[in-house]
Amino acid sequence: SDHQLVYPSCPKEMVWANHFPKFFPAAVDGATVEAGTYSKKVEVEVADIGCGFGGLIVSLAPKLPDTLMLGMEIRTQVTEYVDERIKALRTQHKAEGMYQNISVLRANTMKFLPNIFEKHQVSFAPFGISKVLTVYKLNKIFICFPDPHFKSRKHKARIVSPTLGAEYAYILRPSGIVYTITDVEDLYKWMAKHFDDHPLFERLTEGELEGDICVDVMKVDTEEGKKVERNNGRKFVACWRRTEDPEW
Ligand code: SAM
Repeated sequence: SDHQLVYPSCPKEMVWANHFPKFFPAAVDGATVEAGTYSKKVEVEVADIGCGFGGLIVSLAPKLPDTLMLGMEIRTQVTEYVDERIKALRTQHKAEGMYQNISVLRANTMKFLPNIFEKHQVSFAPFGISKVLTVYKLNKIFICFPDPHFKSRKHKARIVSPTLGAEYAYILRPSGIVYTITDVEDLYKWMAKHFDDHPLFERLTEGELEGDICVDVMKVDTEEGKKVERNNGRKFVACWRRTEDPEW
């Protein structure tokens, strides 16, 4: 059960400094950031929904060193394992400063995603901050080998649905990408139908996916991807781009 899960009431309450201390030094020192001192505001750009043991974010960390990435996992012990894994990697690679850009959060991603991530809206520099404020909004969502919930009466527990499609569109910035992979053909068709039917997502072509390192990482470095490989299973990949909001 996720009853003990504590959520922020809104994204502004998320204390990202606890997750990425090296990227939020002022907050760590307890110092107040003076108006006008920001030249860049860093935000989480990648979310791994149901990250399991963290293979995807661990593999992506050195490949996208300036991108903050958050794994989200509902199981307590698995989340703790990933947390320890990241801490150990940070210690091991302290000299190079690696793995500071990944973290994990225990969360039920079927609830409260908008409590954690801001809407993709354009952000303006708050009053008093004179320098350019660059805000990077959520740019990639990964849904790797989600639980298939085979029986029809269990389909409502699937992590892709019309309602959740709307939430993914809400938190993802236009031109951001949802990456999915599964070894279950029926689930692949289910996810494809829901994203294809959604007015704010358009499917990426094979050509567009060629050379995207994220696709290889999903196939090769996720724990489930490795398991499927060992069993000579098939892997179905499908990705969608978040389109611009329609003009009113
Ligand atoms: N993505 C990982 C991979 O590819 O190796 C793990 C895949 S595993 C089959 C699915 C994971 O999703 C499990 O670790 C499960 O606990 C997690 N999960 C299921 N429902 C979830 C939810 N509502 N919120 C967060 N995580 C969830």
